[in-house]
Amino acid sequence: MATAEAVKTLTLNIDGRDVTVPEGTTIYDAARSGGGESGREIPTLCHQPGLSPAGVCRVCAVEVEGARVLAASCCRETEAGMTVRTNSDRVKNARRMLVELLMADHPAPCERHRKTRDCELEVLAERLGVAESRLAPRARANGRDVSSKVIDVDHSACILCDRCIRACADLQSNDVIGRSGKGFLAKIGFDLDLPMGASTCVACGECAAACPTGALTEKPLVAERTETARAVDSVCPYCGVGCSIAYHVEDNRIVGVTGRESPVNHGRLCVKGRYGYDYAHHKDRLTVPLIRKEGIPKDPGALDDPMDAFREASWDEAMEKAAGALKDIRDAHGSSALAGFGSAKCSNEDNYLFQKLVRAVFGTNNVDHCTRLCHASSVAALMEQIGSGAVSNAFADVALADVALVAGSNTEANHPVAATFMKEAHEAGTKLIVADPRKVSLARLADHYVGFKPGTDVAFFNGMLHVIFRDGLEDEAFIARRTEGVEALRRTVAAYPPDRVEKITGVKAGLIEEVARAYGSAERAITFWGMGISQHTTGTDNARCLVNLALVTGNIGRPGTGLHPLRGQNNVQGASDVGLIPIVYTDYQSVQSPEVKAKFEKAWGVPLSGQPGLTVVEIMHEALEGRIKGMYIMGENPFLSDPNTNKVKKALAAMEFLAVQDIFLTQTARYADVVLPATAFPEKTGTYTNTDRRVQLGRKALAPPGEARTDWEIVAEMGIRMGYPMKYGSAEDIFNEIRTVTPTVAGITYGRLDREGGINWPCPEEDHSGTSILFEETFPSGRGKIVACEWKPAFEVEDEEYPFVLNTGRMLEHWHTGVMTRRAKALDGIRPEALVEMHPDDMEAMGAKHGGFVRVSSRRGEIRLKAAGTDHMPRGSVFIPFHFEEAAANLLTVDALDPHGKIPEFKYCAVRVEAE
Ligand code: SF4
Repeated sequence: MATAEAVKTLTLNIDGRDVTVPEGTTIYDAARSGGGESGREIPTLCHQPGLSPAGVCRVCAVEVEGARVLAASCCRETEAGMTVRTNSDRVKNARRMLVELLMADHPAPCERHRKTRDCELEVLAERLGVAESRLAPRARANGRDVSSKVIDVDHSACILCDRCIRACADLQSNDVIGRSGKGFLAKIGFDLDLPMGASTCVACGECAAACPTGALTEKPLVAERTETARAVDSVCPYCGVGCSIAYHVEDNRIVGVTGRESPVNHGRLCVKGRYGYDYAHHKDRLTVPLIRKEGIPKDPGALDDPMDAFREASWDEAMEKAAGALKDIRDAHGSSALAGFGSAKCSNEDNYLFQKLVRAVFGTNNVDHCTRLCHASSVAALMEQIGSGAVSNAFADVALADVALVAGSNTEANHPVAATFMKEAHEAGTKLIVADPRKVSLARLADHYVGFKPGTDVAFFNGMLHVIFRDGLEDEAFIARRTEGVEALRRTVAAYPPDRVEKITGVKAGLIEEVARAYGSAERAITFWGMGISQHTTGTDNARCLVNLALVTGNIGRPGTGLHPLRGQNNVQGASDVGLIPIVYTDYQSVQSPEVKAKFEKAWGVPLSGQPGLTVVEIMHEALEGRIKGMYIMGENPFLSDPNTNKVKKALAAMEFLAVQDIFLTQTARYADVVLPATAFPEKTGTYTNTDRRVQLGRKALAPPGEARTDWEIVAEMGIRMGYPMKYGSAEDIFNEIRTVTPTVAGITYGRLDREGGINWPCPEEDHSGTSILFEETFPSGRGKIVACEWKPAFEVEDEEYPFVLNTGRMLEHWHTGVMTRRAKALDGIRPEALVEMHPDDMEAMGAKHGGFVRVSSRRGEIRLKAAGTDHMPRGSVFIPFHFEEAAANLLTVDALDPHGKIPEFKYCAVRVEAE
């Protein structure tokens, strides 16, 4: 938690120069202050910006006048009037001796490490004129540990600087690495001195990035990285956090990824961002267009190799066939017989052009993407209540909050780097409330963990609101000035006293009181939520309750407060912003508004439909009914991502024509008539918008394989072949068109993104610096609308036949339908198979063993997979990740929809589990 105390300063003398610094500054930082000519660089090995000072290497020793011994400048605080010498003979001699001692402990410099970056000890020795150590080399613990999938450990190269220990603890808040042994036997250890690969290490790689000597080095995943690799600045292609990265490229191959400094990640990465890149080089990449062979039915199961259903074709033939078929359907059956799915993995430019194609050329608003499957209900609630679906504050604002409520989010698995900010804030004093039926890993740190029964979210939040009103913790002034509808809410939540809520939710009344008081009395409370909130038939009500909490307590529009639905995919925010939604154009401008429609008709030069389009699940339903006859799918894999897979399969097979554009022959592409090979993330330039509304530039690092083409180029050609002019020279040209119809990004240019790294929209003018906090004075809807909600049970509740609740979601190492991550060697190596998580007591009751197979069935299908016992699961519930085709969780899920957001109920359906 930040405090706003006045900063006191002091003055000291360093090497004859008077330096004035804030109290509490270390000598090391004071010496560096002023920079350039005036700053002094003090050598160090164990110290690194961002890590807490440890003073273990002592190389940064300085002489303090009047002191008997030299001081470690990274730890020693400055004092007024102090006189410091950073480069006296005594200091230099001491440093040389220390370096000789360290060199003796480092007898085996790592060749791999030398290829990628210099050994900091060797560089320092050279700088101090130490050619070699006069002391006999002694390998501290001459052991290699190669058990991790991503990192080699060589204890003999370790100088015990503890940088890895602090990187693990300070940057990632994981605390896996420590020291084991004493004296000469001391070495770094993982957990209770386990092999790294068997420990709780999450393979984020922060330790290897911090290691100065090559004791921890990254294993090559594609090829050894050498000093000739070039760095290309980009962003991570996985989650909505949008971490800044650099690809290291050699011979058109990625040989490594490192984190870059940015407000989003401060250089940190998770296992996917750092080690999930080699999918781009996988042998399964599509390199030429494919056309379904004559007479081959759309039943991939009938073939040993799904590729056998297709023959290779030229781009000309494939595009002519696809454009011709889509045009024929449009002309014969009308525009509403066509639909398109874009992709939250693709850039803003790709998706803008895609929705333009569907609207201006297909002639329909039947265009959607996976936002429907993640936060459609959150957006529905936010649009209704405050008139904007955007997050109000960046996730880094958690550092300024007194209380952070994290609801329905397994943040450490789904938004790992955002979780490091939460953990850091908690360490600094922010009170953490984690509310989720599963005891997700962040709950281990929480001040309050609330494990409510699945599907009882509304009851729990109404219970909190009951206590807040009862105890007078609401913000009367904020309610009066900026909201409407509070009286109806007061009446509704009056019927949710804690003892009643305990009966519904299973949460003790006392805990409800504590949590409500913590949130309600906080000066600044911030709320994060994930798909545990949104993926319900009551998803919009769940999100409404969270908005109600913020409005009633005035926790919005200020630093350290606000509403932040953590966006899933890397560009789900951007894809939605550029109109990949059936009811709105760019900037959430309604397709039903005559003025908006006229504006886009003028911009695009064609008449447009004012009829809202169908959503993801509705489109599949209509395809099954024969009313949607043709589709173009760019980069989505509804076969695995949509609920009720058996129904999706039938829908995909039922269409007259399906074109799929992707980088692999996905499960969905196997049903296509034409398959168009596209570029992977590192093979194209484009903009991506993260969960904070920050627009960032992903830069092309690789040439695409074979004849694969950039997504927007394929979409543009489809438009041209269907008779509509879509001529663009670059992604930047498209972005400039987006700016003309999208006021919130009108001030963002490629040039600015290049210079500034990223800009948060709204940014209406080129001299506008972007907007970090929204709704400071007002809401787009005027007053914030408080909406009272009654608790309702889930669509399909458990019964005697299907007695368990199924919850689905993601794992840390995999992403969405696994198309990329299951082809990333390290990620699939760490998590090669699906597991169903269950409470050990439930397993025992049915005779299931940890690691043994079970069958999980619902009214829609059955899968077989291994069971994993964990008391993080509530009794009576099971959790299955949805990344795995061989145990597809969505064979089981129900396609019942939230009536407002049209999001399916991925988080609740009834299943039976039987041990084999
Ligand atoms: Fe990529 Fe998200 Fe991991 Fe950052 S936290 S490295 S954006 S997957």
